Parts: sequence; C-alpha cells; structure tokens
Amino acid sequence: MPAHGDAGHVTTEVPMTRFPRFRRARARRLFAAATTATLLLISAGLTTPGTAAAATPAVSEPGYWVVTAPATAVGDLATDLSRRGYDVMEGLSPDGVPILATADAARRLRRDGLTVRYTGPLYQPVPATVQAAAGTYYGGYHTAAAHETHNQQVVTAHPDLAVLRPIGQSWLKTQNRGGHDIQALCITKIRTGDCALSTTGTKPKFTLMAQMHARELATGELAYMWIDYLVSNYGRVSAVTTLMDTTELWVIPIANPDGVDIVSSNSTRPVSQRKNAHDNGCSGTGRGVDLNRNSSYHWDVNQGTRCSETYPGTGAASEPETQGIQNFLAGIYRDTKPAADFSPATTATTGTFLTLHSYAQLNIYPYGWTNSLAPNNTDLKAIATAMARSNRYTVVHGDGGLNYFAPGATDDWIYGTLGVPGYTVEVGPNSSTCSGFFPAYSCMSSFWNLNLPAFMTLASAAAKPYPTGS
Ligand SMILES: [Zn+2]
Repeated sequence: MPAHGDAGHVTTEVPMTRFPRFRRARARRLFAAATTATLLLISAGLTTPGTAAAATPAVSEPGYWVVTAPATAVGDLATDLSRRGYDVMEGLSPDGVPILATADAARRLRRDGLTVRYTGPLYQPVPATVQAAAGTYYGGYHTAAAHETHNQQVVTAHPDLAVLRPIGQSWLKTQNRGGHDIQALCITKIRTGDCALSTTGTKPKFTLMAQMHARELATGELAYMWIDYLVSNYGRVSAVTTLMDTTELWVIPIANPDGVDIVSSNSTRPVSQRKNAHDNGCSGTGRGVDLNRNSSYHWDVNQGTRCSETYPGTGAASEPETQGIQNFLAGIYRDTKPAADFSPATTATTGTFLTLHSYAQLNIYPYGWTNSLAPNNTDLKAIATAMARSNRYTVVHGDGGLNYFAPGATDDWIYGTLGVPGYTVEVGPNSSTCSGFFPAYSCMSSFWNLNLPAFMTLASAAAKPYPTGS
C-alpha cells in the first residue's frame, strides 16, 4: 500500500512526462484538487494511508480512462482495443471507449496516436469503521460465503416463502480445490408444485442473476437486497404480495463465486477479477474465462485470447458455471422459440430474465451478437422502456448501435435458445464517485431506489412478456 508521498509523487510524474503543455496545466490542477481532497479527508479523520492513496491514484493502480481516435468509429476502436488486450468497459458511448488501465498503458496508447483522458481512480475511500463487519469487504459488500449464509438464513426464517437449490459448481469445486456450488433461491408463496427444477410449475418465472462478472460489486449486493425486500414484505406491501402469489422469483445472487473470492481477497483494495478462476496459465486477473462470452448461443472463438478479459473459453459452455446456469434455466423455462435466429417466440411465452452488470446506466435487450433487430424487438424493447421509467437508464439493444458485439452472453442465450426475454442492466453511472466497479458502499441506496421498481416491472412482465408477438 503506497504512502502519501509515493502516491503524490507518482501522480505528478505520470501525466507530465509526455503531455503537451496545455495538459500539464490541467494535470497540475488535478493534482492540486486531489491533494486538497486528501487533506480534507485527513482533517476530517476519515482516512488512513490507504484511503489517502485512493484520492491520488498510484501508477501501479489502474484507473479509468476514455480513449478516442478521430478517424475510427467507437465500436471499431473498442473491438481493436479489446483484441489488443485492453480492459474495455461495458458502457460504450459515442463519446469514446472507457477502459481500465494503468498510467503506463495509457501512455502507450498516446504513443500510438490515440487521445486518452483520465476519468477517475479504481478505488474510492473506504471508512475504516465499516471494513470490519463480518462477511463483508470494501465498506459493506458481502463475500460469496456471506451470500451463502444469507441464502440459508432466508430459507430457515421463511420456509413458506423460499427454497434454496444448488444448480451447478464453480470451476475450483470441479477440481476439488475448494470452490462453491452455484446457488439459486426460489422466492414465492409456496404451493404444491412450486419451485421445482422443471417446467411443470404453474406460475410464470422471473430470474435475477448477479455478479457473473465478479468485480461488478453493486450487482450481487442488489440481489441480496432484492431477496430481503421480497421475503420481508410479503403480506405487507400489496405489490409484493401479489407478485409472490402469482410468480416464482428466482435469484442467483453470485453466478461466479470463485471470481468473487478473488475480488474480496483484499478488503480495502478489491481485486478487479472479471472472469472465473479457471487456471489458464495467465497471471493476475488474466486468469479465467469470461462467463458472459461462454454461453452456447453464438459462442465466438474470436472474442479474446487466453489472458484477455473477454476470453470465451475453449468452447461453447466449456465452464461448469455456464453449464450449471444454462441447465438450470433450460430446466425451468419452457422453450417457445424456433431455433432460427430471426423466428419470433410465440405470444404464449412466459417468464423473464435479468442479468445484472456494471456500469453505464443501460437497460440492454437482445440481440448483442448482431446489429440486426431480434424478431420480438417490439415487445422486448417495450419492457426495457418500461424499466427505464423508474431507473432512467438508456434503452439499447445489444450492440448499443455501435457495432460492438458481445456474442456468447447469457441474455442472448436465454432469448435465442428458449425465447425468454433476457435483459442486462448496467448498474451505476459513467462518472461521479458512484461510478466504476468499486463504488463506495453508500452508493447502494441510490442504485436500489432506482432499480427496485425496474425489477418489479420486469418480474410482473413474466406473465405475458410478448403481447404483440413482434
Ligand atoms: Zn459485466
């Protein structure tokens, strides 16, 4: 952990080495502002050497940058950067390609003639008092083990409202090297036949899945809050009572528990592990397979090389996490869509699905593997738009209109394979202290307030998601 002086030294040195003159002035202002912030924190007694370093990012710690190239379309630039091994964020915008990178990497991009703008540090200050809470890290986020304890506690406290099912194993568990079962909770007012691992149940189903990308901290926490909200408000909040009387609400709070173990292994400086823990000979966060490129629908070998953040694995559904999740979803949802990509699912389809990611404030609907509209586009978009009425996020189909594709993702798989409308919500803003993979835990309340009504909207749509059939 760098001391104050190290961090300050690094910050002044890095931007000035190769910056043109006008940038040097800006760098000085940035440094002055960061120093002021650090001093304010120190005087308020809110900081330790570690948190002070967060205000002035060290060269060894990555930060967020936006990359632009005047002559290159954003989607092409993102594809190129990703193929070259850069860590491209999920919130692509016409303004540029956000990446997570060290200052050294940013310097290399500038040398290549690209424009690179620093937008903020990876880490936010964490009050020391909160870090110690059992089963949490980085100011309050729950570890994978704490999620599992919580799932069990919910079932024990509410046997009439919740059932816990193991649906698969993490990679480490398949290797007998520790690891986890993947857990799914079914929350509903349980009647005979409910929460079976089959398509025979009479209630339509909504599944919320989180933290498939392990470093996207806010997503697992939203799942945790969603579980608590449901079981504690049955019989109290009429919309919740109605929903739980009529719908099976499945939750996979941690889709990538091995990855989350890596992330939470440092409680003040979480590791930015995105992929699972599959040993592939790569060091650091290069280890693993991107589970959101590993699905068996339009799996694409060209999504990334072994050590890159979007490495899709050695084959479609090569990973045990993917197999468990796909088998579970195919087991509980009825298939109402012909296999052809552009044949629509029928109006008899029931069920909805949501996978939470971060960040960028987007409600994304299929397809993400192509820029052609899905055959149920009208209905798919209508639900995403209804969700946006509460979370105010931007509604986009998979490639965001930017020709940057994500083949092998879970949302495309469930829609393309089963016909169930699959959504990705990218939680959290592109800027401010609540941005990034590691927002301060205090940001959770705003994320929750924005997204709870969106979850309710999507869950309620499970009864008849395709009113028009187009
Ligand atoms: Zn993600």
